[in-house]
Amino acid sequence: MVDQTLESNPKRIPVLAISRKIIQIISFFLINYAALEFIFSAKFSLLENFVKVLPFLHSAKSSWTAGAGLLEYSFFTISQGEIPFFFIAVIALLGLFGGRIFCGWACPTGFIQDLLYGLAGENKRFSLEVDKSLKKVKNFGLIVMFILILPLGVYRISNLGSYIGYKEFLGPLTENTLAPISLSEFLFVTFPGVIQSIIDDVNIQVLFSEGKAWSTILFFVYIIILVLTVFWPRAYCKYLCPYGAAISFSAKYSLVKLQRMPTRCPGRKECGICEKVCPMQIRILDEPYNGFTGEGECTLCLECMEKCPYDAIKWKFGA
Ligand code: SF4
Ligand code: SF4
Repeated sequence: MVDQTLESNPKRIPVLAISRKIIQIISFFLINYAALEFIFSAKFSLLENFVKVLPFLHSAKSSWTAGAGLLEYSFFTISQGEIPFFFIAVIALLGLFGGRIFCGWACPTGFIQDLLYGLAGENKRFSLEVDKSLKKVKNFGLIVMFILILPLGVYRISNLGSYIGYKEFLGPLTENTLAPISLSEFLFVTFPGVIQSIIDDVNIQVLFSEGKAWSTILFFVYIIILVLTVFWPRAYCKYLCPYGAAISFSAKYSLVKLQRMPTRCPGRKECGICEKVCPMQIRILDEPYNGFTGEGECTLCLECMEKCPYDAIKWKFGA
């Protein structure tokens, strides 16, 4: 029963949104610390180790670092014929204790998507069914990469000849398995590289050089994804990100979650603001009111909580 005496809150300063932006900016520079080195003409060797072990960064490495994250190390371990127990455990624990908070507050790729979305500020959304199906695409991408890389590990411990042959067949995928499905690889490695070549050679032909068909296709696919992100917030996070796919398995059961007070919330017809602002298109009002993670998709951005005019959404820690 909704408390009829409740009044909606007047407009207030978006403290959470501002804090999130500040943290995103700091993370962006820490993770891509080479930008700081460039600005201050310094060498932050301490940060190099930090980036290399920062556990989430499957691909949030810049073109200037040799850093890699949990998912990249996991795939590398599989390619060596070993099971990445440690990395899998860390991903599972991160999801369990923090959900997808890294996506919402620290991921540089997420930050860039938020900036792009800010250009139009139009939260377009697919129908419920389409959104549900598209959210499975990222799991599919992860599984395909796993199927591709698994034989490499098997051959490595059983048949060296086949290992060498398969390694040649995979080409650059052997070393950088997730690159084709990594937006951050595109943003921080491919894109700056292409721009640099165009500037150096003053020639756009670099995009269409022989033997680069796949790179060219991917280049334009990512440009389209970025354009779509202007209208569909966090399109890559929702539908394609391999880290998002990996962590959402355990983030679904995250101890950090949101809850909605039914006694304060008049529902979708009277309000529904939370669902309209949610960049991950979570059907908040269909989720269990006493604790929800949006099937592991909630990035804990807290937009819904801050914009709720009746203060009906709170965060909670616990089962
Ligand atoms: S924003 Fe959502 S949770 Fe808050 S009152 Fe409106 S419908 Fe309810
Ligand atoms: S449910 Fe709320 S906190 Fe979670 S992603 Fe949507 S707006 Fe952000």
